[in-house]
Amino acid sequence: MIETIGCLHVHSKISGGTHSIQELAMTARQSGVDFIVLAENWRVEEILHLCGYREHVLVIPGAENEAEGVHFLSVGQNKFACRKDWSVCRCLEETQMAGGKSFLAHPERFNFARARLRMLELARSHPNILGIELWSMMERWMYSWNWLKAFLHMRVDLAGPSPRLLKSWDMHLISGRRLAVIGSVDRYNLLLFNLPLDMFKVKNPLKKIRTHVFVSEITGDAGMDSNAIIRSLCLGNAFIANDEICDSKNTRFLLKKKNAVLSACGEIMNYVSPEEDLSLMMMIPKRAEIRLVKNGEIIDESEDLSKEWYIHEPGVYRAEVRLNSVPWIFTNPFYLIQKSRQEMNWLGEESVLAQTGQMAMSHEES
Ligand SMILES: [Zn+2]
Repeated sequence: MIETIGCLHVHSKISGGTHSIQELAMTARQSGVDFIVLAENWRVEEILHLCGYREHVLVIPGAENEAEGVHFLSVGQNKFACRKDWSVCRCLEETQMAGGKSFLAHPERFNFARARLRMLELARSHPNILGIELWSMMERWMYSWNWLKAFLHMRVDLAGPSPRLLKSWDMHLISGRRLAVIGSVDRYNLLLFNLPLDMFKVKNPLKKIRTHVFVSEITGDAGMDSNAIIRSLCLGNAFIANDEICDSKNTRFLLKKKNAVLSACGEIMNYVSPEEDLSLMMMIPKRAEIRLVKNGEIIDESEDLSKEWYIHEPGVYRAEVRLNSVPWIFTNPFYLIQKSRQEMNWLGEESVLAQTGQMAMSHEES
């Protein structure tokens, strides 16, 4: 199991960001980031030749799509398959047919109840929504912005994922929905009285919210590695962290059976009985407050470097970590279920796999 660290939903100059793709790759390398997923509004075809390994960083093409006021990030498609005058469902379907995997983008940015409810409804029921951006840097940065604090400290403390969004994610999980979460950057130029609003500043947006993804191998082939990362993102073999607080590398949330590691988070496992000796284990690189959340409820909380819990009941289990009370790490869950998969509302690995096409990265083909 290899941990690869990425920044998702990254806008380059093409779509309102401040840097070219090459500059982003360079910043990523200097910041210890292994891959970035772009979010170029409407222009996937035009950037494919700029993707692949750049500066030893894997640049994965992606698009931020918008329809009916809903924004979603799609990854892995070869062409842009969405139009503003289409319904969001049609955009999701066409994107999926083009090989794209879709994640709802910053569901909490919308203050309009209608748009938010539409997003939550899609997250609950649309088969082509594989996950949500649980922790969006730009969304939480705008939420945390405060003139007085900004002037006094010349910085803004980034808020953790919205409690309201965490709660609705938990509700979806309890209802039997497999829904992965990702972290996102989404940094673009905001102008206020013609001044860029990030003057205090999100200095290096690639150092904050990152998604740490587990894959079985990294081959050095851009197409193969992109597909492996996208697959793990869809399944939820990943955790999200604010690495500016403390580097979360080497964090592990594992399922064990009689002391042998079965898998990393995101997996669906059949729960048979307490005699199976199943346990969950959380390990973090720095002593902090570890919480175990079962079916949306915190069932254990303590300060530690590692923690193991024996599991006596089925449920959806995830972990959260706070460092000095500041939100730091959020894992995807383990789904320990008793019903057969067919009885559940899950999106199985099969459908995720079936949708994973081979991405063409032009500089490799030539
Ligand atoms: Zn957006």
